[in-house]
Amino acid sequence: MRENGNREEYSVSISNKFEGLKVFGPDGNGSGEIIEETVIEANESGEITAEKEMISEENCTHDCGSCPSAQGCGSFDPASLLEETNEYSNIGKVIAVVSGKGGVGKSLVTSLMAVTMQRRGAVCGIMDADVTGPSIPKVFGVDAKAEANEAGIFPLPTQTGIKTISVNNLLEDETDPVLWRGPIIAGLVKQFWTDVMWGETDILFVDMPPGTGDVSLTVFQSIPVDGIIVVTSPQDLVSMIVEKAVKMAEMMEVPVLGIVENMSYLTCPECGTEIPVFGPSNTEEVAHAHGLEVLARIPIDPKLAAACDRGMIETFEGDWLDKAAETVEEL
Ligand code: ADP
Repeated sequence: MRENGNREEYSVSISNKFEGLKVFGPDGNGSGEIIEETVIEANESGEITAEKEMISEENCTHDCGSCPSAQGCGSFDPASLLEETNEYSNIGKVIAVVSGKGGVGKSLVTSLMAVTMQRRGAVCGIMDADVTGPSIPKVFGVDAKAEANEAGIFPLPTQTGIKTISVNNLLEDETDPVLWRGPIIAGLVKQFWTDVMWGETDILFVDMPPGTGDVSLTVFQSIPVDGIIVVTSPQDLVSMIVEKAVKMAEMMEVPVLGIVENMSYLTCPECGTEIPVFGPSNTEEVAHAHGLEVLARIPIDPKLAAACDRGMIETFEGDWLDKAAETVEEL
């Protein structure tokens, strides 16, 4: 039995001669169609090698969404998994904001990007896809419950009119922990795309779940993302995170727009010197190695933290994200 995603519906059997690992279709009792086979062999020096084979290509239905072998399949078409929005949504561009782990400021950057772009005249929305750590309602001070009718779910506007949706606006009690498993979370995020009535929205920012795991992948597969912004901090394993984000982006055929380095430095309130609290950063170097740009360096700013805590992120002052905004506008 596989641990996650669609794959848990499938049963696995290992033949007693170790000829192969077989994955059966969803009837679960081993008598379904064999859809994937892993051949396990020993070489002359006794090392075991395993090779995954697609054995039923002739049975391909081209429905990549329900095929557990889609990722390794030569005819896998990422576009085939995309979901449609409803008739009350007309979204210009979708920008996903990703990070390697939680706590580096991904939600802050998503929020600041939306505020910056809204100030520059674009109608913006934020989809809080960080379902297990939702912070968008808090930083914008949006605590109402989302309403719905038979046509769909209404997003909640912030003070300056940014449209938002988050699981916290759907839960009875927003302090309830979200203990759902990956497929349920991914399903909810898909619904944020298909069921929320986003109206005329120029740019929809997606605050992605941290990491490049299963949920992120499903979100990328279901939503037509136009560009990815990677958020790192200097104490992060920047090179690994950027590499993973770049690989995921290549797989999904979506461009990485660049890197935003958060918590880059602290400005001394006495003399204005920039103090690199986490030591020298190698973000620029890593970005160059991947042909990417560092779009912004955001300092650790107690005023920012206070604005987030008070739900007043829209009052922030700072032009750190202007270059990132120009990059999004040029898309
Ligand atoms: P993530 O989305 O990556 O989990 P958040 O954006 O929620 O991270 O940020 C984590 C915490 O750190 C929040 O309380 C936020 O207000 C604070 N924070 C993030 N970046 C900064 C910054 N540059 N200056 C001050 N506080 C920050």
